[in-house]
Amino acid sequence: MKADYDVVIVGGGLVGASLAIALDRLDLDVAMVEATPPGALPAVFDERNLSFAEATVNALSALGVLARLRMPGAPIRRIHASRRGDFGRVRLEAADYGREAFGQVVVARDFGEALEARLLELARFTRLRPARFLATEIDAQGARTVRIADAAGERSLRARLLVAADGTRSGVRAALGIAEDTHDYAQTLLVARLRAERAPDGTAYERLGRDGPTALLPRADRHYGLVHGVAREEAEAVRALSDEAFLGRVQQAFGWRAGRLLSVGARSAYEAVRVVAPRTTAERAVLVGNAAQTLHPIGAQGFNLGLRDALTLAELIETSRGDPGDASLLAAHARRRQADRERTLAMTDGLARLSANQAPLLRPLRSLGMLALDRAPSAQALLVGGAMGYRGDVPALCRSRT
Ligand SMILES: Cc1cc2nc3c(=O)[nH]c(=O)nc-3n(C[C@H](O)[C@H](O)[C@H](O)COP(=O)(O)OP(=O)(O)OC[C@H]3O[C@@H](n4cnc5c(N)ncnc54)[C@H](O)[C@@H]3O)c2cc1C
Repeated sequence: MKADYDVVIVGGGLVGASLAIALDRLDLDVAMVEATPPGALPAVFDERNLSFAEATVNALSALGVLARLRMPGAPIRRIHASRRGDFGRVRLEAADYGREAFGQVVVARDFGEALEARLLELARFTRLRPARFLATEIDAQGARTVRIADAAGERSLRARLLVAADGTRSGVRAALGIAEDTHDYAQTLLVARLRAERAPDGTAYERLGRDGPTALLPRADRHYGLVHGVAREEAEAVRALSDEAFLGRVQQAFGWRAGRLLSVGARSAYEAVRVVAPRTTAERAVLVGNAAQTLHPIGAQGFNLGLRDALTLAELIETSRGDPGDASLLAAHARRRQADRERTLAMTDGLARLSANQAPLLRPLRSLGMLALDRAPSAQALLVGGAMGYRGDVPALCRSRT
């Protein structure tokens, strides 16, 4: 079948851009439709701190992205999780698993710049921006038409495969007639850069509290990346607090493990929602990343999982060497992604509920759960394998060590 492009990706965010880079080795004509104009990074490349699992670090190194980072990622050598008011806690040391680190923390804006530098090097790659996806259908020749609007007006592209990488409120998903299952956790996450008396030492702290998690992630610039969860109705007031009052609140929620909290930068706010598509494929179309599933950020898994969606797709296209939109290839993608997707969603949802559950009767159980996890090596190994990105049938690039 003749088409303008082998693959059209809608969305040039974290997953869409990574997919374009992974496809470059396959000698295909690839186009990416992105709403953000040239010269600016899509808004998602902001000040949020991204924890990259080891599998993600491996793949992004192999794809030549991490070498383009302005500031190297900060290694996570230790994970410390606890719950306010409960006695249990979990401490995991990468060295106990024969690893130098579980993963790395990278600032999303720096990651966006590194991806952009790699995108500029791609060979058979066309970027349509600013352009907005409008609609899609299958034409009389069996190709996917992708209707877009750009400066020149509206037009249609023809593709053998359409990839929806257009995020949580995916227009492509809606146009394909795929519904979504949505849950609002009624929490808002405030994100900021923070300095404390004790400089980061490679420990990622997660403290579960009444209204959500408070996490301090080690950054490479002697600061921490703070994530502070608050009840939705309090979010605006907490965001508007003076620096001093905000630090006092975070200190109370987090405790003193990093010493006194000294200063905090600008705060940005994100609503915690789960949005899951019950199916991820349609004729000559596939959903990846947040368009397929958006998770509560508590487990730091959204991009890690979405990258594995994208890399599995690239791997299947590479090994089939045929039509990238073939129905059996898309069915294989859905099959291969199922276990990782289900387990990561369940793990993240469990953590989110643990941080929200108020029932006093459950508290001792939660504490015991944490204690048990702290002492049972087999349960820990499972948790660590998942957190490092090795759930289910992961793509080969995630296992490559370069
Ligand atoms: C506070 C916070 C912390 C997080 N921390 C982590 C973490 O530590 N680790 C982790 O793995 N994940 C983390 N995540 C999740 C991660 O940010 C997302 O999973 C990731 O951004 C999803 O990437 P995506 O490419 O699927 O979607 P997005 O990054 O949202 O990109 C979608 C793109 O599509 C474009 N677009 C949308 N509609 C259209 C249209 N109609 N036409 C053209 N273009 C369009 C947008 O402009 C955008 O560029 C965090 C999220 C939050 C909110």
